[in-house]
Amino acid sequence: MGLKVVEEFLNACSGCELSILNMGETWVDVLKELEFVHMPLLIDNKYFGQTGEGTQIEIPEADIAIVSGSVRNEEQKQVLEEIRKKCKILIALGTCATNGGIPALANMWSKEEILNSIYVNPPKDVPAWLDRVYALDEIVKVDIYVPGCPPHAKNIADAITALIKGETWSLPERSVCDSCPLKREKKASSGTVKRSLENLEFDPEKPLDEMRCIMEQGFLCLGPVTKAGCRGDSDAPRCIRARIGCRGCFGPIRKGAKPMVEMMTAWSSIGLNAQAVPDRRALLNRFIGAHNNLRPLPKR
Ligand code: SF4
Ligand code: SF4
Ligand code: SF4
Repeated sequence: MGLKVVEEFLNACSGCELSILNMGETWVDVLKELEFVHMPLLIDNKYFGQTGEGTQIEIPEADIAIVSGSVRNEEQKQVLEEIRKKCKILIALGTCATNGGIPALANMWSKEEILNSIYVNPPKDVPAWLDRVYALDEIVKVDIYVPGCPPHAKNIADAITALIKGETWSLPERSVCDSCPLKREKKASSGTVKRSLENLEFDPEKPLDEMRCIMEQGFLCLGPVTKAGCRGDSDAPRCIRARIGCRGCFGPIRKGAKPMVEMMTAWSSIGLNAQAVPDRRALLNRFIGAHNNLRPLPKR
């Protein structure tokens, strides 16, 4: 009998679940060791019995829970708390689960401001919203963090393989820059941060290590303050491979880091004027608005 697995998505877009499917051939070996007992995306499980007759949320007991998405409403909070009670190890999958992700950009406004700006009459027959969007570890204990929007299939495979062997798993505290092959000269080619509508300079016929660092070319790249891991077994981080700057989707390099402050320092250290970047608060916290990184500003 394999390890029992519960997989659940909360305030999520299903991109994390696609990353699970993207594990491809790795699954051939891994699946032999696992038994999925709950996965709403693929298995028809209802929370309150198949005909809604139950009064308690029904989540089966399991060895591992893999949960994607942040927590926006009361139902997601209850489901998460029940999963935590029933499962020995909880994996937070994807940046919504580890840091709030894109949904936590909403934390810049109160829930009343958001609901009133969308609905004339906010709906009453759906689960009530929490005051803000939460990462999983603000509600329950998380054992393993697999960040990324979406996460890299290799990281998911490595985390699950480690658990099968009875080990734990985490990404090292390194930055995207540490795994980036682009050329650095430690000074910017201009003093202002350019808009991405302007073209980067590179020769598509030449390899990545002959291209100048995107940040030093004056464009936004959050590589200095973003956790490495999206590179997998390839030669460069995912966005850098596509010759665009890192947007920060793997979240901070370490817990408690302040990417906004660190990024301003990184810009200044090569002579870029960070003050010229519009909406820095949202831009530099784009994937990490939980943990109180984003809050409504006091009214002026
Ligand atoms: S982390 Fe990204 S891919 Fe995963 S659920 Fe959130 S938005 Fe979707
Ligand atoms: S700032 Fe961006 S382009 Fe430059 S080294 Fe870091 S990750 Fe690579
Ligand atoms: S380069 Fe940055 S934004 Fe792109 S996948 Fe990697 S961590 Fe995410």
